[in-house]
Amino acid sequence: MKYKFLLFELFVCVTGLFSQTVIKSTSTTMNTFNYVVDQFADVQVLRYEVPGFESLPVKQKELIYYLSEAALQGRDILFDQNYKHNLLLRKTLETIYLNYSGDRRSEEFVKFTNYLKRVFFSNGIHHHYGMQKFEPEFSTTFFVEALASIPEGKLKAATGESTTAILNTLLPVLFDPNVASKRVNQSAGEDLIRSSANNYYEGVTQAEVEAFYAAMRKPNDDEPLSYGLNSRLVKKKDGTLEEERYKLGGRYSEQIERIIYWLSKAQEVAENDNQKKIIKTLIAFYQTGDLKTFDEYSIRWVKDQKSHIDFLNGFIETYGDPLGIKASWEAIVNFKNIEATKRTEIISSNAQWFEDNSPIDSRFKKKKVKGVSAKVITVAMLGGDCYPATSIGINLPNANWIRQRYGSKSVTIENITDAYDKASYGNGFNEEFMLGREEIERKQTFGTITDNLHTDLHECLGHGSGQLLPGVSQDALKAYGATVEEARADLFGLYYMADEKMLQLGLLPTNEAYKTAYYQYMMNGLMTQLTRIKEGDNIEESHMRNRQLIARWAYEKGAAQKVVELVQLNGKSFVKINDYTALRNLFGDLLKEIQRIKSEGDYESAKKLVENYAVKVDARLHAEVLARYKKLNLAPYKGFVNPIYTPVYNNKQEIVDVQVSYNEGYLEQHLRYGK
Ligand code: ZN
Repeated sequence: MKYKFLLFELFVCVTGLFSQTVIKSTSTTMNTFNYVVDQFADVQVLRYEVPGFESLPVKQKELIYYLSEAALQGRDILFDQNYKHNLLLRKTLETIYLNYSGDRRSEEFVKFTNYLKRVFFSNGIHHHYGMQKFEPEFSTTFFVEALASIPEGKLKAATGESTTAILNTLLPVLFDPNVASKRVNQSAGEDLIRSSANNYYEGVTQAEVEAFYAAMRKPNDDEPLSYGLNSRLVKKKDGTLEEERYKLGGRYSEQIERIIYWLSKAQEVAENDNQKKIIKTLIAFYQTGDLKTFDEYSIRWVKDQKSHIDFLNGFIETYGDPLGIKASWEAIVNFKNIEATKRTEIISSNAQWFEDNSPIDSRFKKKKVKGVSAKVITVAMLGGDCYPATSIGINLPNANWIRQRYGSKSVTIENITDAYDKASYGNGFNEEFMLGREEIERKQTFGTITDNLHTDLHECLGHGSGQLLPGVSQDALKAYGATVEEARADLFGLYYMADEKMLQLGLLPTNEAYKTAYYQYMMNGLMTQLTRIKEGDNIEESHMRNRQLIARWAYEKGAAQKVVELVQLNGKSFVKINDYTALRNLFGDLLKEIQRIKSEGDYESAKKLVENYAVKVDARLHAEVLARYKKLNLAPYKGFVNPIYTPVYNNKQEIVDVQVSYNEGYLEQHLRYGK
């Protein structure tokens, strides 16, 4: 599971096109590092620094270099998983971009370039967060003429297709809003598979998929495989269903071969034998596609607490599938941030205390919380579904039985949050949306601490806490499962944030600090996260649903006592929290109920909660928030470019150093990866 876009994420925008100048001009007080790379549509691209890389031992640098190369090899897999024509589209656009001989400063070409940037950012034609298809602003005529101007041979070499074939396939994809309109559809009552454009299924209905995987699950299996995780399910001509496995010799064989090549190199310079085995097992999984091997790998991986360098590389998260069965390809390479990790070690070493004192029913508590590990990491490379947009926290593995038996590894990514923070310097957002000086100043004083702490609590304890009743399937809540799970982890964090234990453990400096987290959470959940939703749309994404669920529920339940109000000042709405203690109790009540729903697998209650609180948007408030936000000229979404690692060889072709540089541009990087 991922913790994306924490509270401050909406506070992290930099004003308009002048952002680079702003950053530069303040650089004497901040840092000479240039955080802002590009801005287009609703997106701002930043770069992140990798502090501490230079002082790593050479062997560790070499290991990071190999793992980073492996992290970049699966990019095409993700494009293809997101939609079946994404790769053809991307390659066609790249070829046009590189060879176009018309006026490159014309309005149409600028629009074309913008669209290409969006496709790169989303790893396809659908918005990376909202899941809807975004439309190109250039005209059909421009596209047809631009394509015709590229020599057929060049096009064929890049895409494998003729001009005519490309036009036939891509014109509707680009210009017909009814074709592939949504990558992941979560609307209740529709066939979620048929109405989702992702490429995890072909020719099958939701009912067929559910029946297919239900038949695989064995009753009372206490080590269930993650059936379907690494394959595409297709209906064959004779009507039977078949899984196309992602493996060497199977689907995506070419990319997987390259991943294996770099992983093998990494294996040779691994820090220790255990890490060697982890990499070896992962390679075996790529070779066979055997999910049993994947579980073995996950167990080895979660048990490794010692290695300084760590990585993810594979089919892991299932947010791209409305049924949560199929995983997208992703990769992250990182190393431990030792200083910051001390904070999370305090939390995890007290895990049992938190479990015992949680407001949930004792039947749902773990008698023994195992292996809740926590560390703060520095990311060195992002790939696949972690790039360009990335999460700021990760908690894995996802298989519940492994989590219960072996615990989970939980990380927060501090150099990414740091880049967000630095790039957001004085953008006017707080002044526009926060009630008054008190809230703004409290945020300035405690914002970073509480943001990090909430992420830690969510990841280190929240996801790992509680247990299912015997016999309850981890998929019992179906399409509502992800929202409920994220709400559970968020509530756990919110509830404990206000606990005296935070002061005792030295995690918060005063008993005022938590209020900034509460204020931001309510403001975000009730109002400001709506900046990411188009007028008239509902909320689809599970993290956003979770936040509105919690905020709306608490707002409504506390309405009679005026715990939280939406007040009007100068014609604008503001969140006003009157009683922080009562709000904490409401978070506790909801945590108790959400845990019950999860533990009992109470689908009906999950559905009710989510449909009542999390999905629909208050249209008037939404319009107001959008108008206010627009005036600030900020981009609601952020992503990153990666650094470049360049090995230095001696005359025996051994690596004697690896240098890191940060000077690559956004388009430049994607075009290079495309090659
Ligand atoms: Zn989470």
